[in-house]
Amino acid sequence: MHIDKYEEAMMNCRFCFMCRHLSTIGQVRCTEVDTPRIRAAMLYGLRTGTNSFDDSDFVDALYRQELSACCTRHCVNHYDENGLAIAARADVVEAGKAPEKVQRLARKYAKSEFKATGSGDVAYFLDATTAADKNVVQAVKKLFAAAKVSPKIVEGGSIGKALKVLGYLPEAKAAAEKFAAFLGEKDVKTLVVSNPAAFDALTKDYPEFGVKLPCKVLCISGFLVQQKVAFKKSAGEIYYLADDFMRNYDDCECPEKLLKALKAVNKPFGTNDEESYCCGEGAVVFDELNPSLVKDLAAYVAERADDPKKDRIVVLSAYTKSVLVKYGKLNVVTMEELAASCL
Ligand code: SF4
Repeated sequence: MHIDKYEEAMMNCRFCFMCRHLSTIGQVRCTEVDTPRIRAAMLYGLRTGTNSFDDSDFVDALYRQELSACCTRHCVNHYDENGLAIAARADVVEAGKAPEKVQRLARKYAKSEFKATGSGDVAYFLDATTAADKNVVQAVKKLFAAAKVSPKIVEGGSIGKALKVLGYLPEAKAAAEKFAAFLGEKDVKTLVVSNPAAFDALTKDYPEFGVKLPCKVLCISGFLVQQKVAFKKSAGEIYYLADDFMRNYDDCECPEKLLKALKAVNKPFGTNDEESYCCGEGAVVFDELNPSLVKDLAAYVAERADDPKKDRIVVLSAYTKSVLVKYGKLNVVTMEELAASCL
């Protein structure tokens, strides 16, 4: 089984309650089942015969996890309870027990038809989530102009991340192979991405799948820092919500470097800097899978804002921005919008 690769997490987490306060879903539902300890214990129950994927409550709990990887990051041993959860979903799918709504999403995200417009060997990947936010798209255009780079725009659907987190590993790998081949055909040498989920897929999932990209991949913050884009105005006071992928999965410091270049005064948000405030970003399609939970997550974040209407909150993903605005009524911009406002 896929979960066997996460033996340490399963065997240790089932006796530990140390990171329960970082399990965002456990916090908003006030339920023990939504903590790493109980998830690990339930998965261990597959071995002892006390649990089975025939139990739909168990499967629902596995698909309820927000996959922020906060618990893994802050665990003293860094046991990968997050990877265990994703592996468990793959086992659910292989057992033919994926819930109907998960199957529906997998069918949707298996579709892709990539296209590229423009010329040159630098490309920008315009994923569907970012493309849906016209203000972010405009900001990206301004930033590339300031960087004096005219990129090819690559778009057209799923590159495998959603499929992976839903547990559809062969389909995720097929999508990765298709995207890598497309980039090769288009002679892309550098690919810049805004969406942290896409960045994580390209830099972590693809090597795990054995899929080699023909180009280097830069997050947009790293690209702007590398290009030494001149910012005339200071960003001023902001609340930057650390990103699940860039902080907990990828340990990438580019966003912090860009905030420094923007002379941002980053004020502490909430009661600690360990929790995830990204509302299920790690679960990628969480607002399609569990919208009522995402609403609760956004309310949890909104309760922690000092001045919900006025605080300028900065996030990396258009997903997090959309749900914090939609459900939390917060004043949120993405890093691209913040940077473009400083040109
Ligand atoms: S991830 Fe670490 S802190 Fe969390 S339950 Fe597992 S062993 Fe305990």
